[in-house]
Amino acid sequence: MPIEFLRRRGKDGRDGGSKAPPPAPTPTNRLPEEVIAQDHQLRLSLSAKTSEGVRLTAGPEALGGMPAIVAAEAKSDVEVVPPREMDTGQASPAIIRTAEASAWLAAHGELSPITRHALYVLETVDAVDPAYETFACALLDGTTDPAGYPDFSAIVGGLAAHWDETTGDLIVRAVVGWGGRGARGDTDRTAARILASLFRGVVGSSGVLGLAEGGRPLGSGESGALVCQHCGFASAGLRAMYCPKCGMRMLRG
Ligand SMILES: [Zn+2]
Repeated sequence: MPIEFLRRRGKDGRDGGSKAPPPAPTPTNRLPEEVIAQDHQLRLSLSAKTSEGVRLTAGPEALGGMPAIVAAEAKSDVEVVPPREMDTGQASPAIIRTAEASAWLAAHGELSPITRHALYVLETVDAVDPAYETFACALLDGTTDPAGYPDFSAIVGGLAAHWDETTGDLIVRAVVGWGGRGARGDTDRTAARILASLFRGVVGSSGVLGLAEGGRPLGSGESGALVCQHCGFASAGLRAMYCPKCGMRMLRG
């Protein structure tokens, strides 16, 4: 097809042709057909180690001894986080789940940056469940930034405790976690050493009955779950005799 056909004609009917100034190139003329992708990526690495549970005789002195055991390994003050009040199991540190994140902030927003970082790491990898566990927490290794938040190679954690659903004994686990935007080769080994020290501290405390067999209890949002009449915790363990959150005897209707 002759290109003349596409030329605009001038107002006076003359062929505008080659005498008209060339049209300014518009941006659309320059768009390439192939997309040039700019890559963006963030790799988060969160890790934790937990020990077996140690069974301790029930009583307030068992819970009260936890901060001193953590303090022996701590590089910061030890903060004790009681189980969340009336948690329906929905609180979560996942910020885009706004209802869950709001519940999490309402429960933990006033804690220290070290403890918030620890809960974020340890809850995200399911190493602790503050819905029913009491958590004694500190900075255990490494440093914090000027705002007080642990860096990616800092190790945080301490002891987590709940009440055995069958016997009512206190079950205490050593829990350590670390991570963020990066990783360091020796962090895993350091974490294992600190976990062992915390575990020895628990085993060496008074009232030790032995190791706890079996897994951790599960919370349940389902109807028909056994609900503690003292604290409202809904247990998925329908044969539970004791509440894992408050340690009181479960009442049956
Ligand atoms: Zn309870």
